[in-house]
Amino acid sequence: MRTGRGPARPRLVGVSTSAEISGVRLPLRPGLEGLEPYGAPQLDVPVRLNVNENPHPPSDAVVADIADAVAKAARGLNRYPDRDFDELRAELAEYLRVESGVTVAGKQIWAANGSNEVMLHLLLAYGGPGRVVLSFPPTYSMYPEYARDTLTEWVTGRREEDFTLDAGHAVAQIAEHRPSVILLASPNNPTGTALSLETVDAICVAARDGGPAGPDGEPTAAVVVVDEAYGEFRREGTPSALTLLERHPHLAVARTMSKAFGMAGLRLGYLAGDPRIVNHLRVVRLPYHLSAVTQAAALAALRHRGELMTQVASLRAERDALVAWLRERGLRVADSDANFVLTGVFPDRHQVWNGLLERGVLVREVGPDGWLRVSVGTPQEMDAFKAALEEVAGK
Ligand SMILES: *Cc1c(COP(=O)(O)O)cnc(C)c1O
Repeated sequence: MRTGRGPARPRLVGVSTSAEISGVRLPLRPGLEGLEPYGAPQLDVPVRLNVNENPHPPSDAVVADIADAVAKAARGLNRYPDRDFDELRAELAEYLRVESGVTVAGKQIWAANGSNEVMLHLLLAYGGPGRVVLSFPPTYSMYPEYARDTLTEWVTGRREEDFTLDAGHAVAQIAEHRPSVILLASPNNPTGTALSLETVDAICVAARDGGPAGPDGEPTAAVVVVDEAYGEFRREGTPSALTLLERHPHLAVARTMSKAFGMAGLRLGYLAGDPRIVNHLRVVRLPYHLSAVTQAAALAALRHRGELMTQVASLRAERDALVAWLRERGLRVADSDANFVLTGVFPDRHQVWNGLLERGVLVREVGPDGWLRVSVGTPQEMDAFKAALEEVAGK
C-alpha cells in the first residue's frame, strides 16, 4: 500500500530521454536492424500518380450508403464481428462472377485487411523456416517482406528483357528450389505486364508436386499465388487466372478493392481458391481480423459495383492513350494491363522524378534503373503530367 501524502507522482514519461532509459537495448530480431518501414513518400502535391490509386473519389450515393451501413454496424460494436464474414464472402464471390464470368462459392473466398494481409496469411500457413518462396523480379516490393517476416527463404528467378516470364525458366526454378509458395503478380507491379494463361497453367502443372517434401517424404504441391491486384484493368482478351481454379486446387488468385474498385482506404483484399486453402488461412489469421465497420463498408461499396466498374473502362482508355503518347515521344513503355505504366529509359531518373515533383506531379521511382512508374489519373492529371514531362525531359 502507498504511504506518504498527496497523489502519487507519475513515474513513467512518454518519451525516453534519460540515459538510464535510452540505454536499454531492445531485443530486435537479427536481420531487422536499420530497416525502414515500406511505403512510398506520402507528399501533399496536386497531382499524385505514385501509388496506383483510382483517382476518382466515391460518389455521394456511395458515400451515403457506406455511412448508413457503418451507422447500423456501430449499434452492434459492443459485440465482436462475424468471424467468418459469410455475407461478405458471398458478395465477393458474386462480384467475381460478374467481373470475370467464373463461378466460385463463398467458401472459396478468403478476405483480410488488404490483399497484402491475405498474402501474409498465405506465407504464415505455407512458408516458415526451412521453406522457400519463389518469385520473379522486378515485381512487387512487398513480397520479400512477407518472406522476411515469416522466416521463409526468398528465392528469385528472372524476367525477360520485355518483363515477360519465360515458362521454361519458371518451371526449371521450381524443380531447383522446391518452393512451398510461388508469388506471381499479373498484371505485374511495377511493369504492368500480364502473364498468359498458358504460362500460369504450365507453372501450376509443374507446381503440382513441385513443393517441399511432406511428412511422409513424398513431395507436396507448391501453392501458386496469382496476385491480380490490377486484374480489372486487363486488356480485352487477357483472361483472369480465376478461369484456371477448377483445374488446379493449389492455385490461389488474390484480388483487392484498393485499385480498380477505388477503395484503397477501406483496406479490403481477398482471394479465391480451394476451400482447403481457405481453411488453412483461417488457422493463422488473428481472431476477428475483419472489423464490423470494414465488413459493413465493403458490403455497401459492393452494392455499387456497377457504377464503380464504369470508371475502369475510362481509366483503361486513358492508360492506352498514355502509352501511345509516351511511345510517340520515343520513350520505352512496357505493355500495360494495369492502371499504371512503366516508362524509360531516363539517363538520370531521379532528376526527372524531382523535376516532375517541382511541378506538382508525384510519380514513383521504382523498377529497374532508369525507369519511372506513372499511375493513370484523371484526364486533367494526365495533362499536367504530360506538360511537366515535356518541360523536364524535353519529351
Ligand atoms: C497495390 C497492390 C496490392 C494491393 O494491396 P492492398 O493491400 O490490397 O491494398 C497487391 N499486390 C500488388 C502487386 C499491388 O501493387
